[in-house]
Amino acid sequence: MTLRTTILATTLLAATPALADVNVYSHRQPELIAPLTKAFTAKTGIRVNVAFLESGLVERLKAEGDRSPADVILTVDIARLAEAMDAGVTQPLITDTLEANVPAAYHDPEGHWWGVTTRARIVYASREATKVGDITTYEDLANPKWKGRICTRSGTHSYMIGLTSAYLVHHGSEETKTWLAGLKNNLARRPQGDDRAQVKAIWAGECDISLGNTYYMGKMLADPEQKVWADSVRLDFPVFEGHGTHVNISGVALTKAAKNVAEATQFIEFLTSPEAQEIYAEANSEYPIAPGSQPSELVASWGSFVADDLNLITIAGARAEALRLTQEVDYDG
Ligand code: FE
Repeated sequence: MTLRTTILATTLLAATPALADVNVYSHRQPELIAPLTKAFTAKTGIRVNVAFLESGLVERLKAEGDRSPADVILTVDIARLAEAMDAGVTQPLITDTLEANVPAAYHDPEGHWWGVTTRARIVYASREATKVGDITTYEDLANPKWKGRICTRSGTHSYMIGLTSAYLVHHGSEETKTWLAGLKNNLARRPQGDDRAQVKAIWAGECDISLGNTYYMGKMLADPEQKVWADSVRLDFPVFEGHGTHVNISGVALTKAAKNVAEATQFIEFLTSPEAQEIYAEANSEYPIAPGSQPSELVASWGSFVADDLNLITIAGARAEALRLTQEVDYDG
């Protein structure tokens, strides 16, 4: 019996070519990634090692150069994906599977990065002080009728720069500057805190309207202390006049230094599969983007929207100008 088991094991070992591990640098939290790496390993036998980095992912890859152990990076926001690409730490990857799973607006045309999920940047509005239909466009947020009623985080944060960049592509520099100045003029307080801190301010009666990413609703609802903040607001999905709602992505890229390209490619393809997108989207209350995939019941209950038609690469290209205009109007001042 023992002998037979040994022989069998040896035969199996000999028949299976050695599979390398995939090494990942992730800006995304370990608990978000764990269900995905587990499912991938169960399916392929390839192990995934994840190093979670709070910040400095691109700097680290640059410093490590060819010696970097990372094959794959996982991060959020087109700004960070574009930053990685611009820094030369990614390499192009295009496969039929990737192209079938990820709509063209959500990947680099040359394959330097691939979107996995989206989040919309929308309005959180006081249930008490506003009603459905009050805020329908981003443009309207600069209307003086909202004076003293809006709270936002710093205008230089990547989430705000993403929105301002989209505004810039739609309207040009001059109108964007006017919009930023108008929005600043409507603020109830100097920009401070994160997206959730603005909802807390609405709950506390400091303001009536804020801007935030959709998934923070899910995070607040799951937190006993923050649930009351979430319950005090309604999610409104504004659009750019004549277009859609501003979205950003979480994404994945193959590193330039990747040693285990075949295994990493399998992992990246797996991440973009409808199955993995739905697991990933549900874990962080985001939207899967593969054709035919569905958001979780909770996320779907917030309402549906039409995403803006701009390609994210265009938005990324407007970041520097958006930052310059934000500083010119002294948005945080
Ligand atoms: Fe966030």
